[in-house]
Amino acid sequence: MPPSILDQVTIYKNGSITNSSSDKPCKRRICNSLLVEDQKATIRGVVYDFLSKSRSEKSLISLGVGDASSFPAFQQGQDVSKAIIDSVSSEKFNGYAPSCGIPFSRRAVADYLSWGVEYAGIGEDDVFLTCGGTQAVQICLTVLSNSRDGCKPNILLPNPGFPLYESLSMLNGIETRFYDLVPDQNWELDLGQIKTLSDSHTVAIVIINPNNPSGAVYSRSHLHQIAETAGELNLLVIADEIYGHMVFGGNKFVPMAGFASIAPVITIGGLSKRWLVPGWRLGWLAICDPQGFLRQSQVKEAIQTLMNIVSGPASIIQAAVPGLLSGSNQDFHNNVLKLLESSADTCYEKIGQIKALSCYSKPQGGMFIMVEVKTSLLAGINDDMDFARELIKEESVLVLPGSVIGLKNWVRIFLGVPVDLMREAFDRINSFSERHLLTA
Ligand SMILES: *Cc1c(COP(=O)(O)O)cnc(C)c1O
Repeated sequence: MPPSILDQVTIYKNGSITNSSSDKPCKRRICNSLLVEDQKATIRGVVYDFLSKSRSEKSLISLGVGDASSFPAFQQGQDVSKAIIDSVSSEKFNGYAPSCGIPFSRRAVADYLSWGVEYAGIGEDDVFLTCGGTQAVQICLTVLSNSRDGCKPNILLPNPGFPLYESLSMLNGIETRFYDLVPDQNWELDLGQIKTLSDSHTVAIVIINPNNPSGAVYSRSHLHQIAETAGELNLLVIADEIYGHMVFGGNKFVPMAGFASIAPVITIGGLSKRWLVPGWRLGWLAICDPQGFLRQSQVKEAIQTLMNIVSGPASIIQAAVPGLLSGSNQDFHNNVLKLLESSADTCYEKIGQIKALSCYSKPQGGMFIMVEVKTSLLAGINDDMDFARELIKEESVLVLPGSVIGLKNWVRIFLGVPVDLMREAFDRINSFSERHLLTA
């Protein structure tokens, strides 16, 4: 196991200037960063590389990354700008916000997360406002990495998953252990596998629901089982609910906080996905721990200290939060869900007509679908990377190769585009697949 960046920092702090990755003393104090050494395929890295490869005359259709904010159809009924205009024009929010967030905005998030959830016990003090969901993840992982007993902690992450967790675990010196999401069982977890993977140094399990990348939405009973398993194993549940309430087709979103009396939960969320304002960089984390499981380990105090060190979201954005969470924007949310659902239906139907593609279940929520590529049926396409690279070259359609998120020979497709554009994308994917289909 290579030493983490934090190990190196520690070595530096201890006054030694030895590069931990080699025995030779290095003259400079700045050591070679493992970020460069362990260069990994990141979503943005792969996407930028592929975008430069399109040789087609056709206009680009990007189904690679998730941002629907540029399509007017998705913005119908959205009145987020009013909240921000009021916040700016009041001129009351030009100063630094308190480190953990403006109290009335924290209150609004606590109320939003407690709505319909019994016994979650989320108060204003349990909520921390962050720069997007990304910083909420960062805060969680940094706090978990700083245990006083000196043991290297490990964390259970979903595979396929969201690569941010792996990268930030690495940066924080946390060992990652991956559990599988089972495609033909609605991408649920195998709880037996969770028990085998965990040991006395396992600190947390990350659950993404509604799920990115699979589009699965977990049932109340599955979430209950997950909480019981986490409780048995003494794990914290990190519930990534950035797609919370984004469900369609009669499915129901059940917040993990409802099971916090069984195992402690930290809920991660934000405005980026449900409100379609990812550029505003407003997220949150909330400690849901009615039984006080986390009290002894002083998790809340550690988060408070860390929030005093790092810098949170802009005051004017924070001040707009209560207006956005007040629930007045139902028409906008319903329209987005309707568009996502028809996009998912179109996708599912078209995939059924393309020999080289398959998918096990229609998405139930979130903004993505996972599609299996039967590479053995395609000439000159050995894996998902080839598929995605050739597809953008020939047809100017961008999809995300599954390898980047842990599932080889699958691709992830973004659903947040107007349905006409989705049809056009699949017409092109169809002609691409026909062209490459091996004749028996
Ligand atoms: C987008 C996303 C995040 C990060 O949210 P930002 O607000 O864009 O930083 C975290 N987790 C998952 C699963 C996501 O899809």
